[in-house]
Amino acid sequence: NSTHFGYKTVEAEQKADMVAGVFHSVAAKYDIMNDVMSFGIHRMWKRFTIESAGARPGMKVLDLAGGTGDLTAKFSHLVGDKGQVTLADINDSMLKVGREKLRDKGIVGNVNYVQANAEALPFPDNHFDIITIAFGLRNVTDKDSAIRSMLRVLKPGGKLLILEFSKPQHDVMRKVYDLYSFKILPKMGSLITQDAESYEYLAESIRMHPDQDTLKGMMVDAGFEQVEYTNMTDGIVALHKGYKF
Ligand code: SAM
Repeated sequence: NSTHFGYKTVEAEQKADMVAGVFHSVAAKYDIMNDVMSFGIHRMWKRFTIESAGARPGMKVLDLAGGTGDLTAKFSHLVGDKGQVTLADINDSMLKVGREKLRDKGIVGNVNYVQANAEALPFPDNHFDIITIAFGLRNVTDKDSAIRSMLRVLKPGGKLLILEFSKPQHDVMRKVYDLYSFKILPKMGSLITQDAESYEYLAESIRMHPDQDTLKGMMVDAGFEQVEYTNMTDGIVALHKGYKF
């Protein structure tokens, strides 16, 4: 996505602008849309991610592309007073909604907020015990740079968890899901947010995202070890896990 001079190509810039537009537009209604569009199932996918992360008191956790902070809220309880959760997101509207929501819930003290691009994380090497990126990676233009950047800021022994839409395993499910995401989802989006385009982008970005084995290969190529994934809801969503040693 960048030329050999290091400049971003026009397409990469357009994608970044489009992603920014989508999340500025949906920020205020993001949480309700998540519940409506996934029939509440995103809560189960996130719960499984938290259970797989194994966060313990005192740990440093990065919730990357953390948006409105669902995972951050759970990690904040698990790492306790001596731990630290960093919610990082590129989009200031999403960060603002997340910060207000967590403050209203009384989640303060061990959470900090950073506006950052996953492709070039502004954190020291070997810093975090756990990194999660939930429904974020497919929005990132240069995914390989982002995965390398995550590896750099993880401590040796640290763990990366990528929760993302993936490829349904069965034909029937694939057909139902295509119908849902290309026909029904943009209509629901336009009813609730008056913004069908953002939800068309969402469906398209899911279709373009690397499938389970491709993403696993990208993590291995970047230098992650013991990489494995778990399909959920027939592979509509997958949780990839890998370690830095
Ligand atoms: N993790 C939250 C969740 O699961 O509810 C939010 C997911 S939301 C679908 C995707 C988030 O990725 C948005 O908040 C967006 O701003 C963020 N994002 C997109 N591109 C990014 C990038 N290059 N670096 C960091 N965050 C990014």
